[in-house]
Amino acid sequence: MSQGDQSGGKIKVGVSSCLLGEKVRWNGDHKKHVYVYDMLSPYFDWVTTCPEVEIGMGILRETVYLEGSVEATRMIGEKTKTDWTRRMRAYSEKRGRELSKLGISGYIFKKNLPSCGLMRVKVYLAKRMLAGQGRGLFAGEVVRQNPWITLEEEGRLSDAGLRENFIVRVFGYHRLQSLFKAKFSMAALVRFHTMEKFLLLAHSRKYYDELGRLVAGAKGRPPAEVRRNYTELYMRALSFKATTKKNVDVLMHMLGFLKKEISKEEKSDILETIKDYHRRLLPLVVPLTLLGHYVRKHQVRYLLGQVYLNPHPKELMLRNHI
Ligand code: SF4
Repeated sequence: MSQGDQSGGKIKVGVSSCLLGEKVRWNGDHKKHVYVYDMLSPYFDWVTTCPEVEIGMGILRETVYLEGSVEATRMIGEKTKTDWTRRMRAYSEKRGRELSKLGISGYIFKKNLPSCGLMRVKVYLAKRMLAGQGRGLFAGEVVRQNPWITLEEEGRLSDAGLRENFIVRVFGYHRLQSLFKAKFSMAALVRFHTMEKFLLLAHSRKYYDELGRLVAGAKGRPPAEVRRNYTELYMRALSFKATTKKNVDVLMHMLGFLKKEISKEEKSDILETIKDYHRRLLPLVVPLTLLGHYVRKHQVRYLLGQVYLNPHPKELMLRNHI
């Protein structure tokens, strides 16, 4: 595991069962997602759920759709018009609580479907006219009960930027939970905040500053309140995309810490790669690898511990595509 995962173990992440190849779909088939299954399984300890099977709809079942309005949605069988709403809501509430207790750091949902769809799931009026778009009933409850974990649909993981952002947040949330599992310590919180500095800056300076103010004023406040506030602001920060411009600013900022250690030629090599990254001629991994090399070579203490240099396993090659 990378520096990003300090627990040494896999990270618990929820997933729609069919995406891992379980044959639980209405037609007895699965929807195995190659990236999720092959690339992420070495790092994630999957917690699978098929809510439709769990509420007794069986495999080889009739398909369902959402009816009513986005605010008051019912789940109805296509042919028999069986109303599954009450059973699905009761199960989702119970499972949502279980997932919180299990400490999942993220969830990957199967897109568009009446139970698991996270966004833009069609809701119909009685005569199959479109009433609007909402969430699947199960996904909606997982969101409600786990507001700060990172949720995504499998379809969006094929976008390099969204994929990197999802995984950065899963690893970030996991680091934070690992920190807060231990007895509260101001020193540990300050250390964490210091190590996350450049990662946070690459996502949101505004929230980095707010987090700084929170840490500065945390002494003497109830630990549970500090944990809650820090988690909220930290996850808000990471939800902003680390754009090219923000990454360039962070790379230049880090380069400033190396100026006394490296030669003019070395500095100009690094600057060249940062410029090429800015022009999108090179992916982010190139300037970062070069910077990381000099940080290790010269043992620049302040930068050595920065999570930004290694926020997720390099084997996932996430920064080779952004
Ligand atoms: S999308 Fe959800 S409900 Fe449908 S088969 Fe997959 S896990 Fe089950």
